[in-house]
Amino acid sequence: MNIYQKKVLSLIKNNKKTYCLIAPSFPIDFKYPNIINALKKLGFSKVTELTFGARMTNYYYIKYIKENPNQKYYITSPCPTVNTLIKNRYPKLEKYLLKYDSPLIATAKIIKKHNPNYKIVFISPCKAKRILETDNNNIVDETITFKELQEIFDYKKIDINKLNKKRKFNSYIREYTKIYPISGGLSKTSKISKLFKKNEILITEGIKENIEILDKINNNKTNYRFIDILNCKGGCIGGPDIINNKISNKKKANIIKKYRKISSRESIKTIMGKKKLALNINFKTK
Ligand code: SF4
Repeated sequence: MNIYQKKVLSLIKNNKKTYCLIAPSFPIDFKYPNIINALKKLGFSKVTELTFGARMTNYYYIKYIKENPNQKYYITSPCPTVNTLIKNRYPKLEKYLLKYDSPLIATAKIIKKHNPNYKIVFISPCKAKRILETDNNNIVDETITFKELQEIFDYKKIDINKLNKKRKFNSYIREYTKIYPISGGLSKTSKISKLFKKNEILITEGIKENIEILDKINNNKTNYRFIDILNCKGGCIGGPDIINNKISNKKKANIIKKYRKISSRESIKTIMGKKKLALNINFKTK
């Protein structure tokens, strides 16, 4: 067990109220609904996805673009690696970054507001989320990766394959944003094509490709205006801490889409509106 795994186990042991947030790429590594059962067996009181937070991220991106229609470029990314790359290597472009919370932080803020006594643990497909995002705030208490979670299941002898009882996530769900971890998921779910011409939208992923386009923007050498950018090939489904990383990104994307279909069919009747859930929460970042 590493320090983060130990911290999560002690947090569960010492707190009756714990909320687990799992990244939307989870179906690549963990069966649904087995994962909800396994996390509850581990001791979490509540388990949910980031889908409602993704809705809020989209909502504020679109609102910002509509209110600032003449901005030259709009760079959007829930990826902390991309945000850090832009801040460090392209300071001139920082003004084009849309500064709103990622689906993770947006969801965590909503949960903290409605469940102030709960400790929050995030399960992530990459360590960058921990190093660059959650370690620097006091909203998410601990973060571990998919690989680290599986090691905890092994250590605690929790066999997820045997835990197939039907169970639903605890609220905060919007089905349509479940494709967010696939490259282009942000653009698709926010219906960005209604605001820009096709040739103004660029969906990009991968370090080399991202540097190429950021160089062009930096030198005013592109006609793209809306840039949806993620660090990993394929998007977060290509995250380095995904266990089943040998599967092709196409197959991974299909797993996510299939999961969205199945989970939608099982209809979660706990969807609540933006006004009820997110009233008076500030989703703006610095
Ligand atoms: S998995 Fe990759 S694209 Fe997703 S947040 Fe982590 S580094 Fe960024």
